Amino acid sequence: MDYDEVLARFDPVLGLEVHVELSTATKMFCGCANAFGAEPNTQVCPVCLGLPGALPVVNGKAVEAAIRIGLALNCQVAEWCRFARKNYFYPDMPKNFQTSQYDEPIVFDGHLDVVLDDGDTFRVEIERAHMEEDTGKSLHVGGATGRIHGAEHSLLDYNRAGVPLIEIVTKPIIGAGERAPEVARAYVTALRDLLRSLDVSDVRMDQGSLRCDANVSLMPKGSSEFGTRTETKNVNSLRSVERAVRYEMRRHAAVLASGGSIVQETRHFDESTASTSAGRPKETSEDYRYFPEPDLVPIAPSREWVEELSGTLPELPWERRKRVQEEWKLSDEELRDLVNAGALELVTETVDAGAPPAEARSWWVAYLTQQANTRGVELPELAITPKQVARVIELIAEGKLTNKLARQVVDGVLDGQGEPDEVVAAKGLEVVSDDSALQSAIDEALTAQPDVADKIRGGKVQAAGAIVGAVMKATKGQADAKRVRELVLAACGQ
Ligand code: ADP
Ligand code: MG
Ligand code: ZN
Repeated sequence: MDYDEVLARFDPVLGLEVHVELSTATKMFCGCANAFGAEPNTQVCPVCLGLPGALPVVNGKAVEAAIRIGLALNCQVAEWCRFARKNYFYPDMPKNFQTSQYDEPIVFDGHLDVVLDDGDTFRVEIERAHMEEDTGKSLHVGGATGRIHGAEHSLLDYNRAGVPLIEIVTKPIIGAGERAPEVARAYVTALRDLLRSLDVSDVRMDQGSLRCDANVSLMPKGSSEFGTRTETKNVNSLRSVERAVRYEMRRHAAVLASGGSIVQETRHFDESTASTSAGRPKETSEDYRYFPEPDLVPIAPSREWVEELSGTLPELPWERRKRVQEEWKLSDEELRDLVNAGALELVTETVDAGAPPAEARSWWVAYLTQQANTRGVELPELAITPKQVARVIELIAEGKLTNKLARQVVDGVLDGQGEPDEVVAAKGLEVVSDDSALQSAIDEALTAQPDVADKIRGGKVQAAGAIVGAVMKATKGQADAKRVRELVLAACGQ
């Protein structure tokens, strides 16, 4: 159904569940390393493999991260809470249950204010955030799609089993109307930025360290009773979050308008077609036979500890936005462009590394954003650091690079050719600032164009442009045009 028609007939309700893998040194309940990309099954032990008799121990750093996340999301921190077993069978889960939290989450009842594309703020209420462990990974071999259907066999990698996860669940989001897909994207974006500033996770959607499940349902206009929801699983980019919500809204509306009913189920989002397909019917929580985990002691964070952790919160994204707008004297629109480009953190770090705000902003929002687009990655994933960008800006300020040369240096860094100074040296990109080197190129150009030389000598200084052009060409654009012009005029007695 046409999106406008969907909105004329229905109001959407959203619920977003975000899983974050914590970047702790070790796993949630054992001492195995928590690192992405190792050889399969090299980061495992009796505890995370669920071997008989193995006993878990809680990772204190993970609890600390959960509390800090809760505090940053304006949540209450439980005085006392427990882990619970969520029982189900899946080959990637060796214990046959996931150690999670059920009705006693570590933090609950918070909110996150998210900024929409036009600068408006929308408040998303947080239901809870709880601690749990990740599952292993199945690799389905031999099929065309990589999915289990059509595969010849499956391989299992338990390195990820037991990696600390925080699941952050919103309350039903109502009142977003036509902006529901945008709100969903903006929420995940805001949450990602918040988690990044807390330094608790890599928050890489492409690597699965940040994963979003999007629940969508529709209510007929005028009704306030929620419809049946579907849950689109593991949407793995910000753009896909928006597209998945929009697709489900339109699909639900079409089904409902033709007198059908929505089945409560999980759905898969297909990036290539931007559509969803049915997964499994949704279990109810009774199906999981949750019960309190008997092998772990309850967690009772003292108020002193919570207070202490609250003191470790860094400048949060919205506080930073307010501060840089004042300090850098940005208009609302400039700030919005910066935030929408996802460049606020990066620019701040570039400024912290010594660059003037205007230059730092311009590099990230213009050239580097363009490079991220052509290379198909998100801005923070570009292979250049704020410190390196600051160095390039410094080289321009010192007159060692022109803007054009600087872009070539940045390209070199992005292509893995080393630090900016190394790229300059390796490619010989430095501005020719040695006057004597320029002088010989100028002499040659004047000899080659004697009539132009005469005009300049006769006082027609605007004719110097032709000589400057020739010198720039001879030095492959590596000279400072302003300096060349001065030298040309001096050589002609002007
Ligand atoms: P589950 O375990 O089934 O995934 P959760 O409580 O973890 O359930 O998450 C469900 C999410 O969906 C929450 O964000 C909740 O606010 C939201 N939600 C609940 N009912 C609806 C509904 N009818 N339509 C849309 N979202 C809903
Ligand atoms: Mg859930
Ligand atoms: Zn282990």
